[in-house]
Amino acid sequence: MRRRGGARPPGRDRRAEIVVPPPGRERIEGDPPSVAVIGGGIAGLAAATALAEHGVRVVLHEREPVLGGRVAGWPVALPDGTTATMSRGFHAFFRQYYNLRGLLRRCDPGLGMLTGLPDYPLQHSSGLRDSFRRVPRTP
Ligand SMILES: Cc1cc2nc3c(=O)[nH]c(=O)nc-3n(C[C@H](O)[C@H](O)[C@H](O)COP(=O)(O)OP(=O)(O)OC[C@H]3O[C@@H](n4cnc5c(N)ncnc54)[C@H](O)[C@@H]3O)c2cc1C
Repeated sequence: MRRRGGARPPGRDRRAEIVVPPPGRERIEGDPPSVAVIGGGIAGLAAATALAEHGVRVVLHEREPVLGGRVAGWPVALPDGTTATMSRGFHAFFRQYYNLRGLLRRCDPGLGMLTGLPDYPLQHSSGLRDSFRRVPRTP
C-alpha cells in the first residue's frame, strides 16, 4: 500500500493507494443548528454520529423499540425459560467495510464485539464453491 507521494504504510493489498480526502467542515461553534434524523439503522446512526461530532444538535427518531434496523438484535424468551438473541439473519462485516468499522470503533476501539472468521464460504447448488478469503481489505 502506498500513500500518494509518501511512505508505504503496512497493508495486505500491495496495489492499494491511500487518497487523502479534502478536510471536512470545521466543527460548528456557537449556536448549533438542529437536525432530525429519521431511522436508527446503520445509515441513520452513521449520519447522526457524523453530525453530532461536528457540533450539530441531533434528534434521532426510530419507530422500533431497538436501534439498528436490519442489523438489530433483540432478546427473546424461549419456551424453556432461557433467553436468546434474535436477529434477521447472519451479518458479515467484511474487512474492506472501512466506514462501518470506523463507526463501530467509536464505541468499540478494538472491535472486540466482532468475531473474526477465517472465511465466508458460499456453496452454489451447482456444486461451485466461492470464497471471500482473498478479498482485498481495500476497495
Ligand atoms: C438477512 C439479512 C442479511 C444481511 N446480511 C448482510 C451482511 O452480511 N453484510 C452487510 O453488509 N449487509 C447485510 N445486509 C444488509 C444490511 O443489513 C442493510 O443494508 C443495512 O442494515 C441497511 O441499513 P439502513 O440504515 O439503510 O436501513 P435499515 O436497517 O432498514 O434502517 C432503517 C430504519 O428506519 C426506521 N424507520 C423507517 N421508517 C421510519 C419512520 N417513519 N420513523 C422512524 N423510523 C423509521 C426503521 O425502523 C429502521 O430502524 C443484510 C440484510 C438482511 C435483511
